[in-house]
Amino acid sequence: MALKNSRNKQKRKPAIATRAIHAGEPRERYADSITTPIVQTSTFVFSGSDEIENFTHKGKLRYEYGRYGNPTATIAEKRLADLEGAQDCVVFSSGMSAITTTILSLVHSGDHIIITDDSYKKTLEFCRSYLKQFAVECTILPFGDYKGLEKAIKKNTRFIFSESPTNPYLNIFDLEKLKKIADRHGVLTLIDSTFATPLNQRPLEFGIDLVLQSCTKYLAGHNDILAGAVLGRTALVDKIRDLHKSMGGTIDPHCCYLLLRGLKTFPLRVARQNETALAIARHLEKHPRIKRVYYPFLESHPHYKIATSQMTGGGGVVTFETKGTLNDAKKFMDALKLCFIGPSLGGVETLITHPALVSYYDYTRKQRYQLGITDTLFRLAVGIEDAGDIIEDLERGLHKL
Ligand SMILES: *Cc1c(COP(=O)(O)O)cnc(C)c1O
Repeated sequence: MALKNSRNKQKRKPAIATRAIHAGEPRERYADSITTPIVQTSTFVFSGSDEIENFTHKGKLRYEYGRYGNPTATIAEKRLADLEGAQDCVVFSSGMSAITTTILSLVHSGDHIIITDDSYKKTLEFCRSYLKQFAVECTILPFGDYKGLEKAIKKNTRFIFSESPTNPYLNIFDLEKLKKIADRHGVLTLIDSTFATPLNQRPLEFGIDLVLQSCTKYLAGHNDILAGAVLGRTALVDKIRDLHKSMGGTIDPHCCYLLLRGLKTFPLRVARQNETALAIARHLEKHPRIKRVYYPFLESHPHYKIATSQMTGGGGVVTFETKGTLNDAKKFMDALKLCFIGPSLGGVETLITHPALVSYYDYTRKQRYQLGITDTLFRLAVGIEDAGDIIEDLERGLHKL
Protein backbone atom coordinates (compact mmCIF):
# COMPACT_ATOMS: atom_id res chain seq x y z
CA MET A 1 0.00 0.00 0.00
CA ALA A 2 1.56 3.30 -1.09
CA LEU A 3 1.48 6.27 1.22
CA LYS A 4 -0.76 9.06 0.03
CA ASN A 5 1.73 11.68 1.01
CA SER A 6 5.37 11.18 1.84
CA ARG A 7 5.04 13.60 4.77
CA ASN A 8 2.24 11.51 6.15
CA LYS A 9 3.50 10.49 9.59
CA GLN A 10 1.22 7.49 9.69
CA LYS A 11 3.42 4.40 9.72
CA ARG A 12 2.99 2.02 6.81
CA LYS A 13 2.52 -1.51 8.14
CA PRO A 14 5.06 -3.98 6.75
CA ALA A 15 3.71 -6.83 4.64
CA ILE A 16 2.74 -10.17 6.19
CA ALA A 17 5.94 -11.88 4.93
CA THR A 18 7.98 -9.38 6.96
CA ARG A 19 5.75 -9.42 10.01
CA ALA A 20 5.81 -13.23 10.11
CA ILE A 21 9.55 -12.96 10.79
CA HIS A 22 9.81 -9.86 12.98
CA ALA A 23 6.50 -9.14 14.73
CA GLY A 24 6.57 -9.48 18.50
CA GLU A 25 10.36 -9.75 18.76
CA PRO A 26 12.28 -7.18 20.79
CA ARG A 27 14.88 -5.46 18.57
CA GLU A 28 17.60 -5.59 21.25
CA ARG A 29 18.50 -9.25 21.23
CA TYR A 30 19.30 -11.33 24.26
CA ALA A 31 23.11 -11.94 24.22
CA ASP A 32 23.04 -10.59 20.64
CA SER A 33 21.34 -13.78 19.48
CA ILE A 34 19.28 -13.33 16.31
CA THR A 35 16.89 -16.13 17.25
CA THR A 36 14.34 -15.98 20.05
CA PRO A 37 15.63 -17.25 23.39
CA ILE A 38 13.86 -20.29 24.81
CA VAL A 39 13.30 -19.28 28.41
CA GLN A 40 13.15 -22.83 29.71
CA THR A 41 11.96 -22.24 33.23
CA SER A 42 8.95 -22.94 35.40
CA THR A 43 9.53 -20.09 37.82
CA PHE A 44 10.88 -16.53 37.86
CA VAL A 45 12.79 -15.20 40.85
CA PHE A 46 12.66 -11.91 42.77
CA SER A 47 15.74 -10.02 43.91
CA GLY A 48 14.13 -9.12 47.24
CA SER A 49 11.13 -7.67 49.03
CA ASP A 50 11.16 -4.42 47.03
CA GLU A 51 10.74 -6.31 43.80
CA ILE A 52 7.98 -8.46 45.27
CA GLU A 53 6.09 -5.37 46.41
CA ASN A 54 6.56 -3.59 43.11
CA PHE A 55 4.90 -6.59 41.54
CA THR A 56 2.17 -7.32 44.09
CA HIS A 57 1.25 -3.79 45.12
CA LYS A 58 2.43 -1.43 42.41
CA GLY A 59 1.37 -3.53 39.41
CA LYS A 60 4.80 -3.73 37.79
CA LEU A 61 4.46 -6.24 34.96
CA ARG A 62 6.85 -9.17 35.16
CA TYR A 63 6.83 -12.94 34.99
CA GLU A 64 6.16 -14.96 38.09
CA TYR A 65 5.31 -18.58 37.33
CA GLY A 66 5.25 -20.60 34.10
CA ARG A 67 1.51 -21.22 34.00
CA TYR A 68 0.87 -17.46 34.18
CA GLY A 69 3.16 -16.55 31.31
CA ASN A 70 6.60 -17.01 29.80
CA PRO A 71 8.66 -14.58 27.66
CA THR A 72 8.96 -17.00 24.72
CA ALA A 73 5.18 -17.50 24.80
CA THR A 74 4.62 -13.73 24.96
CA ILE A 75 6.60 -13.27 21.74
CA ALA A 76 4.53 -15.98 20.04
CA GLU A 77 1.32 -14.29 21.25
CA LYS A 78 2.44 -10.90 19.97
CA ARG A 79 3.41 -12.28 16.60
CA LEU A 80 0.17 -14.24 16.16
CA ALA A 81 -1.89 -11.18 17.20
CA ASP A 82 -0.04 -9.06 14.67
CA LEU A 83 -0.60 -11.55 11.84
CA GLU A 84 -4.29 -11.94 12.59
CA GLY A 85 -4.82 -8.20 13.14
CA ALA A 86 -5.96 -8.85 16.72
CA GLN A 87 -5.55 -6.68 19.83
CA ASP A 88 -4.54 -9.68 21.89
CA CYS A 89 -3.83 -13.40 21.78
CA VAL A 90 -3.36 -16.31 24.18
CA VAL A 91 -1.40 -19.39 23.13
CA PHE A 92 -2.26 -22.85 24.39
CA SER A 93 -0.78 -26.33 24.40
CA SER A 94 -3.16 -27.40 21.59
CA GLY A 95 -5.97 -26.11 19.40
CA MET A 96 -8.51 -28.02 21.50
CA SER A 97 -7.19 -26.43 24.69
CA ALA A 98 -7.73 -23.01 23.08
CA ILE A 99 -11.26 -23.95 21.98
CA THR A 100 -12.44 -25.53 25.24
CA THR A 101 -10.93 -22.84 27.48
CA THR A 102 -12.44 -20.11 25.30
CA ILE A 103 -15.89 -21.69 25.34
CA LEU A 104 -15.83 -22.26 29.11
CA SER A 105 -14.80 -18.67 29.73
CA LEU A 106 -17.88 -17.44 27.85
CA VAL A 107 -20.75 -19.59 29.17
CA HIS A 108 -22.69 -19.80 32.40
CA SER A 109 -25.25 -22.45 33.34
CA GLY A 110 -28.56 -21.68 31.68
CA ASP A 111 -26.88 -20.26 28.57
CA HIS A 112 -27.43 -21.50 25.04
CA ILE A 113 -24.92 -21.76 22.23
CA ILE A 114 -25.12 -22.51 18.51
CA ILE A 115 -22.58 -24.52 16.55
CA THR A 116 -22.65 -25.72 12.94
CA ASP A 117 -22.74 -29.43 12.21
CA ASP A 118 -19.53 -29.84 10.26
CA SER A 119 -17.32 -28.34 12.94
CA TYR A 120 -14.24 -30.22 14.14
CA LYS A 121 -15.35 -33.54 15.64
CA LYS A 122 -13.92 -32.93 19.12
CA THR A 123 -15.30 -29.38 19.28
CA LEU A 124 -18.76 -30.72 18.48
CA GLU A 125 -18.39 -33.50 21.02
CA PHE A 126 -17.38 -31.00 23.71
CA CYS A 127 -20.34 -28.73 22.98
CA ARG A 128 -22.85 -31.54 22.60
CA SER A 129 -21.82 -33.70 25.56
CA TYR A 130 -19.68 -31.92 28.14
CA LEU A 131 -21.41 -28.55 28.17
CA LYS A 132 -24.61 -30.36 29.16
CA GLN A 133 -22.99 -31.17 32.51
CA PHE A 134 -22.94 -27.44 33.19
CA ALA A 135 -26.52 -26.94 31.97
CA VAL A 136 -25.42 -25.17 28.83
CA GLU A 137 -27.76 -25.98 25.97
CA CYS A 138 -26.34 -26.47 22.50
CA THR A 139 -28.08 -26.27 19.13
CA ILE A 140 -26.28 -27.98 16.26
CA LEU A 141 -27.31 -26.45 12.95
CA PRO A 142 -26.73 -27.60 9.37
CA PHE A 143 -23.91 -25.56 7.87
CA GLY A 144 -25.15 -22.90 5.45
CA ASP A 145 -28.67 -22.65 6.88
CA TYR A 146 -28.61 -18.91 7.55
CA LYS A 147 -32.38 -18.65 8.07
CA GLY A 148 -32.33 -21.54 10.52
CA LEU A 149 -29.41 -19.89 12.27
CA GLU A 150 -31.31 -16.68 12.90
CA LYS A 151 -34.37 -18.63 14.06
CA ALA A 152 -32.26 -20.71 16.46
CA ILE A 153 -31.06 -17.64 18.38
CA LYS A 154 -32.75 -17.30 21.76
CA LYS A 155 -32.66 -14.73 24.55
CA ASN A 156 -29.97 -16.74 26.35
CA THR A 157 -27.83 -17.45 23.28
CA ARG A 158 -24.27 -16.54 24.13
CA PHE A 159 -22.44 -17.21 20.87
CA ILE A 160 -22.42 -18.77 17.43
CA PHE A 161 -19.42 -21.00 16.72
CA SER A 162 -18.44 -22.12 13.26
CA GLU A 163 -15.50 -22.88 11.03
CA SER A 164 -14.51 -21.72 7.60
CA PRO A 165 -13.41 -23.55 5.53
CA THR A 166 -14.77 -26.73 7.11
CA ASN A 167 -13.59 -30.30 7.03
CA PRO A 168 -13.75 -32.25 4.73
CA TYR A 169 -15.99 -30.47 2.19
CA LEU A 170 -14.34 -27.07 2.59
CA ASN A 171 -17.62 -25.23 3.03
CA ILE A 172 -17.23 -21.48 3.37
CA PHE A 173 -19.21 -19.46 5.92
CA ASP A 174 -20.34 -16.05 4.69
CA LEU A 175 -18.77 -14.03 7.50
CA GLU A 176 -20.52 -10.79 6.58
CA LYS A 177 -23.89 -12.50 6.79
CA LEU A 178 -22.93 -14.18 10.06
CA LYS A 179 -21.90 -10.87 11.58
CA LYS A 180 -25.16 -9.18 10.53
CA ILE A 181 -27.29 -11.97 12.02
CA ALA A 182 -25.27 -11.96 15.26
CA ASP A 183 -25.46 -8.18 15.59
CA ARG A 184 -29.23 -8.14 15.22
CA HIS A 185 -29.42 -10.30 18.35
CA GLY A 186 -26.36 -9.20 20.28
CA VAL A 187 -24.61 -12.57 20.30
CA LEU A 188 -20.88 -13.19 19.97
CA THR A 189 -19.31 -14.85 16.93
CA LEU A 190 -16.43 -17.34 17.07
CA ILE A 191 -14.67 -18.68 13.99
CA ASP A 192 -12.19 -21.53 13.90
CA SER A 193 -10.04 -20.29 11.02
CA THR A 194 -7.45 -23.09 11.13
CA PHE A 195 -7.94 -24.22 7.51
CA ALA A 196 -7.59 -20.65 6.22
CA THR A 197 -4.78 -19.09 8.31
CA PRO A 198 -4.40 -15.29 8.48
CA LEU A 199 -2.77 -15.36 5.05
CA ASN A 200 -6.00 -16.47 3.35
CA GLN A 201 -8.75 -15.12 5.60
CA ARG A 202 -9.00 -12.54 8.36
CA PRO A 203 -12.31 -12.99 10.21
CA LEU A 204 -11.66 -10.12 12.66
CA GLU A 205 -11.83 -7.68 9.73
CA PHE A 206 -15.42 -8.87 9.21
CA GLY A 207 -16.23 -8.03 12.82
CA ILE A 208 -16.02 -11.62 14.11
CA ASP A 209 -15.37 -11.46 17.87
CA LEU A 210 -12.91 -14.30 18.37
CA VAL A 211 -10.72 -16.33 16.04
CA LEU A 212 -9.47 -19.78 17.05
CA GLN A 213 -6.41 -21.35 15.49
CA SER A 214 -4.94 -24.80 15.77
CA CYS A 215 -1.33 -23.64 15.27
CA THR A 216 -0.47 -27.34 15.00
CA LYS A 217 -1.43 -27.06 11.34
CA TYR A 218 -0.22 -24.32 8.96
CA LEU A 219 1.10 -21.80 11.46
CA ALA A 220 3.74 -24.07 12.99
CA GLY A 221 3.69 -26.01 9.75
CA HIS A 222 6.17 -28.85 10.26
CA ASN A 223 4.04 -31.64 11.73
CA ASP A 224 6.19 -31.51 14.86
CA ILE A 225 4.24 -29.68 17.58
CA LEU A 226 0.75 -29.16 18.98
CA ALA A 227 -0.30 -25.58 19.74
CA GLY A 228 -3.40 -23.41 19.71
CA ALA A 229 -4.42 -19.78 19.98
CA VAL A 230 -7.39 -17.52 20.53
CA LEU A 231 -7.33 -14.00 19.15
CA GLY A 232 -9.57 -10.95 19.50
CA ARG A 233 -10.09 -7.77 21.44
CA THR A 234 -8.42 -7.35 24.81
CA ALA A 235 -11.59 -7.28 26.93
CA LEU A 236 -12.62 -10.74 25.72
CA VAL A 237 -9.14 -12.25 25.54
CA ASP A 238 -8.31 -11.12 29.10
CA LYS A 239 -11.12 -13.26 30.49
CA ILE A 240 -9.88 -16.26 28.53
CA ARG A 241 -6.32 -15.66 29.74
CA ASP A 242 -7.59 -15.64 33.33
CA LEU A 243 -9.34 -18.98 32.95
CA HIS A 244 -6.32 -20.39 31.09
CA LYS A 245 -4.27 -19.81 34.27
CA SER A 246 -6.60 -22.22 36.10
CA MET A 247 -7.25 -24.70 33.28
CA GLY A 248 -3.51 -24.96 32.74
CA GLY A 249 -3.30 -25.87 29.06
CA THR A 250 0.07 -24.14 29.08
CA ILE A 251 2.33 -24.42 26.06
CA ASP A 252 5.98 -25.04 26.90
CA PRO A 253 8.71 -22.56 25.92
CA HIS A 254 10.51 -24.92 23.58
CA CYS A 255 7.26 -25.53 21.73
CA CYS A 256 6.79 -21.74 21.46
CA TYR A 257 10.21 -21.50 19.89
CA LEU A 258 9.25 -24.08 17.26
CA LEU A 259 6.00 -22.21 16.65
CA LEU A 260 7.91 -18.93 16.21
CA ARG A 261 10.36 -20.60 13.86
CA GLY A 262 7.53 -22.14 11.84
CA LEU A 263 5.76 -18.78 11.66
CA LYS A 264 8.73 -17.18 9.91
CA THR A 265 8.08 -19.23 6.77
CA PHE A 266 4.32 -19.54 7.09
CA PRO A 267 3.37 -17.01 4.38
CA LEU A 268 5.83 -18.67 1.96
CA ARG A 269 4.58 -22.14 2.74
CA VAL A 270 0.88 -21.32 2.59
CA ALA A 271 1.25 -19.35 -0.66
CA ARG A 272 2.92 -22.43 -2.15
CA GLN A 273 0.25 -24.74 -0.70
CA ASN A 274 -2.51 -22.53 -2.18
CA GLU A 275 -0.87 -22.77 -5.58
CA THR A 276 -0.19 -26.51 -5.47
CA ALA A 277 -3.64 -27.37 -4.10
CA LEU A 278 -5.35 -25.40 -6.87
CA ALA A 279 -3.18 -27.08 -9.52
CA ILE A 280 -3.98 -30.53 -8.08
CA ALA A 281 -7.70 -29.71 -7.81
CA ARG A 282 -7.76 -28.62 -11.47
CA HIS A 283 -5.84 -31.72 -12.53
CA LEU A 284 -8.11 -34.11 -10.63
CA GLU A 285 -11.29 -32.40 -11.81
CA LYS A 286 -10.48 -33.37 -15.40
CA HIS A 287 -9.43 -36.90 -14.49
CA PRO A 288 -11.56 -39.78 -15.86
CA ARG A 289 -11.08 -41.81 -12.65
CA ILE A 290 -12.20 -39.02 -10.34
CA LYS A 291 -15.86 -38.63 -9.47
CA ARG A 292 -15.84 -35.23 -7.80
CA VAL A 293 -13.40 -32.64 -6.46
CA TYR A 294 -14.08 -30.12 -3.68
CA TYR A 295 -11.84 -27.06 -3.52
CA PRO A 296 -13.17 -23.58 -2.63
CA PHE A 297 -11.30 -21.85 -5.46
CA LEU A 298 -12.68 -24.20 -8.15
CA GLU A 299 -15.61 -22.70 -10.05
CA SER A 300 -17.52 -25.95 -9.41
CA HIS A 301 -17.43 -25.54 -5.61
CA PRO A 302 -20.85 -24.51 -4.24
CA HIS A 303 -19.25 -21.66 -2.26
CA TYR A 304 -16.81 -20.49 -4.96
CA LYS A 305 -18.21 -16.94 -5.04
CA ILE A 306 -18.12 -16.31 -1.34
CA ALA A 307 -14.76 -18.09 -1.03
CA THR A 308 -13.08 -15.91 -3.64
CA SER A 309 -14.61 -12.75 -2.19
CA GLN A 310 -13.67 -13.28 1.45
CA MET A 311 -10.45 -15.27 1.02
CA THR A 312 -7.23 -14.54 -0.84
CA GLY A 313 -6.29 -18.19 -1.32
CA GLY A 314 -8.15 -21.49 -1.33
CA GLY A 315 -5.86 -23.19 1.21
CA GLY A 316 -3.87 -26.40 1.08
CA VAL A 317 -6.61 -29.02 1.38
CA VAL A 318 -8.22 -30.75 -1.61
CA THR A 319 -11.06 -33.19 -1.04
CA PHE A 320 -12.06 -35.65 -3.74
CA GLU A 321 -13.92 -38.85 -4.48
CA THR A 322 -12.42 -41.49 -6.70
CA LYS A 323 -14.63 -43.67 -8.88
CA GLY A 324 -15.31 -47.27 -7.86
CA THR A 325 -15.75 -49.08 -4.56
CA LEU A 326 -14.23 -49.01 -1.09
CA ASN A 327 -11.83 -51.67 -2.29
CA ASP A 328 -10.72 -49.46 -5.19
CA ALA A 329 -10.21 -46.61 -2.74
CA LYS A 330 -7.91 -48.84 -0.65
CA LYS A 331 -5.94 -49.84 -3.77
CA PHE A 332 -5.52 -46.19 -4.71
CA MET A 333 -4.27 -45.26 -1.25
CA ASP A 334 -1.97 -48.27 -0.87
CA ALA A 335 -0.19 -47.45 -4.14
CA LEU A 336 0.91 -43.95 -2.99
CA LYS A 337 4.62 -43.56 -2.31
CA LEU A 338 5.15 -39.84 -1.69
CA CYS A 339 1.96 -38.86 0.15
CA PHE A 340 1.95 -40.08 3.74
CA ILE A 341 -1.25 -41.65 5.00
CA GLY A 342 -2.21 -39.90 8.21
CA PRO A 343 -4.40 -37.32 9.91
CA SER A 344 -3.67 -33.61 10.24
CA LEU A 345 -2.84 -30.96 7.67
CA GLY A 346 -0.79 -27.84 7.13
CA GLY A 347 2.71 -29.31 7.43
CA VAL A 348 5.46 -29.46 4.86
CA GLU A 349 4.76 -33.14 4.10
CA THR A 350 1.75 -34.06 1.98
CA LEU A 351 -0.76 -36.16 3.92
CA ILE A 352 -3.78 -38.07 2.74
CA THR A 353 -6.65 -39.38 4.85
CA HIS A 354 -9.56 -41.61 4.08
CA PRO A 355 -12.22 -40.40 6.55
CA ALA A 356 -14.39 -43.54 6.19
CA LEU A 357 -11.52 -45.77 7.38
CA VAL A 358 -10.17 -43.42 10.04
CA SER A 359 -12.38 -40.78 11.71
CA TYR A 360 -15.62 -42.64 10.94
CA TYR A 361 -14.46 -46.26 11.24
CA ASP A 362 -16.96 -46.87 14.05
CA TYR A 363 -19.99 -45.60 12.09
CA THR A 364 -22.22 -47.83 9.97
CA ARG A 365 -22.04 -47.23 6.23
CA LYS A 366 -25.52 -45.69 6.37
CA GLN A 367 -24.52 -43.28 9.17
CA ARG A 368 -21.38 -42.32 7.26
CA TYR A 369 -23.28 -41.66 4.04
CA GLN A 370 -25.74 -39.44 5.92
CA LEU A 371 -22.76 -37.29 6.87
CA GLY A 372 -21.41 -37.36 3.33
CA ILE A 373 -18.49 -39.62 4.25
CA THR A 374 -18.55 -41.92 1.26
CA ASP A 375 -16.46 -45.04 0.58
CA THR A 376 -14.17 -43.28 -1.89
CA LEU A 377 -13.76 -39.88 -0.21
CA PHE A 378 -10.21 -38.63 0.38
CA ARG A 379 -8.78 -35.53 1.97
CA LEU A 380 -5.43 -34.49 0.60
CA ALA A 381 -3.48 -31.98 2.71
CA VAL A 382 -0.76 -30.78 0.38
CA GLY A 383 2.72 -30.09 1.67
CA ILE A 384 5.39 -28.01 0.02
CA GLU A 385 6.86 -30.70 -2.23
CA ASP A 386 6.92 -30.11 -5.98
CA ALA A 387 3.37 -30.08 -7.38
CA GLY A 388 4.42 -32.29 -10.30
CA ASP A 389 5.75 -34.93 -7.93
CA ILE A 390 2.55 -34.99 -5.87
CA ILE A 391 0.47 -35.28 -9.04
CA GLU A 392 2.69 -38.10 -10.29
CA ASP A 393 2.13 -39.93 -7.00
CA LEU A 394 -1.66 -39.50 -7.24
CA GLU A 395 -1.51 -40.76 -10.83
CA ARG A 396 0.34 -43.85 -9.60
CA GLY A 397 -2.61 -44.54 -7.30
CA LEU A 398 -5.31 -43.69 -9.82
CA HIS A 399 -3.71 -46.11 -12.25
CA LYS A 400 -4.66 -48.95 -9.90
CA LEU A 401 -8.36 -48.24 -10.19
C1 LIG B 1 -6.74 -29.82 14.25
C2 LIG B 1 -7.90 -28.94 14.44
C3 LIG B 1 -8.35 -28.59 15.71
C4 LIG B 1 -7.71 -29.12 16.96
O1 LIG B 1 -6.42 -28.65 17.11
P1 LIG B 1 -5.28 -29.46 17.95
O2 LIG B 1 -4.11 -28.58 17.81
O3 LIG B 1 -5.14 -30.79 17.28
O4 LIG B 1 -5.79 -29.60 19.33
C5 LIG B 1 -9.42 -27.73 15.81
N1 LIG B 1 -10.04 -27.24 14.71
C6 LIG B 1 -9.64 -27.57 13.47
C7 LIG B 1 -10.37 -27.00 12.31
C8 LIG B 1 -8.56 -28.42 13.30
O5 LIG B 1 -8.18 -28.75 12.06
